[in-house]
Amino acid sequence: ASGYSLLRDPHHNKGLAFTEKERDAHYLRGLLPPVCISQELQEKKLMRSLRQYQVPLQRYMAMMDLQERNERLFYKLLIDNVEELLPVVYTPTVGEACQKYGCIFRRPQGLYISLKEKGKILEVLKNWPERSIQVIVVTDGERILGLGDLGSQGMGIPVGKLSLYTALGGIHPSSCLPVTIDVGTNNEQLLNDEFYIGLRQKRATGQEYAELLHEFMTAVKQNYGEKVIVQYEDFANHNAFELLAKYSKSHLVFNDDIQGTASVVLAGLVAALKVVGRTLAEHTFLFLGAGEAGTGIAELIALEMSRQTKAPIEETRKKIWLVDSKGLIVSSRKESLQHFKKPWAHEHEPVKTLLDAVKTIKPTVLIGSSGVGQTFTKEVAEAMPSFNEKPVILALSNPTSQSECTAEQAYSWSEGRAIFASGSPFDPVEYNGKLFVPGQANNAYIFPGLGLGLVISGAIRVHDEMLLAASEALAQQVTEENFANGLIYPPFTIIRKISAHIAANVAAKAYELGLATHLPRPANLVKYAESRMYSPLYRSYR
Ligand code: NAP
Ligand code: MN
Repeated sequence: ASGYSLLRDPHHNKGLAFTEKERDAHYLRGLLPPVCISQELQEKKLMRSLRQYQVPLQRYMAMMDLQERNERLFYKLLIDNVEELLPVVYTPTVGEACQKYGCIFRRPQGLYISLKEKGKILEVLKNWPERSIQVIVVTDGERILGLGDLGSQGMGIPVGKLSLYTALGGIHPSSCLPVTIDVGTNNEQLLNDEFYIGLRQKRATGQEYAELLHEFMTAVKQNYGEKVIVQYEDFANHNAFELLAKYSKSHLVFNDDIQGTASVVLAGLVAALKVVGRTLAEHTFLFLGAGEAGTGIAELIALEMSRQTKAPIEETRKKIWLVDSKGLIVSSRKESLQHFKKPWAHEHEPVKTLLDAVKTIKPTVLIGSSGVGQTFTKEVAEAMPSFNEKPVILALSNPTSQSECTAEQAYSWSEGRAIFASGSPFDPVEYNGKLFVPGQANNAYIFPGLGLGLVISGAIRVHDEMLLAASEALAQQVTEENFANGLIYPPFTIIRKISAHIAANVAAKAYELGLATHLPRPANLVKYAESRMYSPLYRSYR
């Protein structure tokens, strides 16, 4: 290949870091200015220029440019500056990028599969340049973050999530495939936008929707085999629950909004109990919000309680209560409930408001997952410490504006007694002379390591016990020092180490359950996981 095309190949380009010898061997003489610099210096230069942008979207675009120009350098930046760059390549900035995707769209970064491709999905997969794929993240764009239906512009999400699979979990970038399924959009603004990039029609539903998804799932297995992970991302909740139930028996599928959230929140709770005391089954849980996040978390908590106490899950579920937009979920409402809420309809008289539910249920743990901000009012937050020495309060709704309460409110209303974590990041809070550092229940703690664990064991199905294994591994990474600061999650700076531990624990579970196909089982799974992780360092070309 010519030197000119080498400079335009993001997988191999090193820019000014090509050495003198490489410049001679690969016809690069004269195509680059004379100076040769190290990858470290390139990184320093790029970080400096990124920080000069005041607008987050400009930083996002600069990172996307870098990814298209020099992939290894992109990942080096992301790995070495994870706390600073995560909010740039993922939430919250990725949300804004999706909203404006039609305008900032440059080069396609994944596969678009629309109703136009019906009957041809296998051919479409073959148009993708890489043959061997290990992880697919797919969305249909209907519920992008807290932003709603963004149709084809949802592509930013699979692209961003897969960058995290690589940066945080070490999955090789060439084995990642972002996919957006376009069945139309119900977003009027997009339908009327002359620059909209997707199908200009209302969403297909019912059989037409199911058929396209079925063709996709079948083609994926036919083209990539049984060991490719299909992660469903940001589907609306009716489709999310259905797709997961339907394909979990025949494919290696995972829904991060339901299962990843559940695993990361359970990890935080397990860690929190080391401070609060008592076992999981001795606590009472109340959720505001009974959708993908709420019911997913509730189910995994019930499963872990059942595993610990040997009580049937039907019993352990009774320690967990959920409130939806109509009030407390109780048995008298059972007939009219969506099926994923039915297991939570316990015997109780109807209760309308969250405050009343808190007062009658007297939860020890309060979890917000409704997507609606400022719902943990002063009265609610003050009720919690009135019957708990150390109430656990998790405000999971995203983005920051939708958080149930702020970190400062949680600490001051509870007079510094709350164990608090949130979905969106909050700065540390000083209260009565003590510094409280709120943890972030970020799904990015779990899915990259879980994915790596599935890949290294060659797992063919995701089992709930693997989610528990992932939670357990994450909770074990929280140190005494973290606890002393009020943290129930470890710092993100050590995420590659965390991911290796999660991967090892998940892989161990896959072997134990007979779901692993990579045999024999490596003796030291943590070391093995580490050895399989992608490194962003340049290789030398001879
Ligand atoms: P979802 O499936 O749409 O569920 C939302 C639930 O909230 C539904 O049960 C809904 O009730 C209920 N709800 C809505 N408005 C309400 C109100 N005013 N009062 C009481 N309940 C109300 O959404 P989701 O996927 O679960 O996501 C929910 C939130 O969790 C989002 O903000 C998301 O960003 C956040 N989240 C955070 C994390 C994390 O922290 N790691 C992970 C995932 C999601 P009905 O069923 O009656 O409509
Ligand atoms: Mn999501």
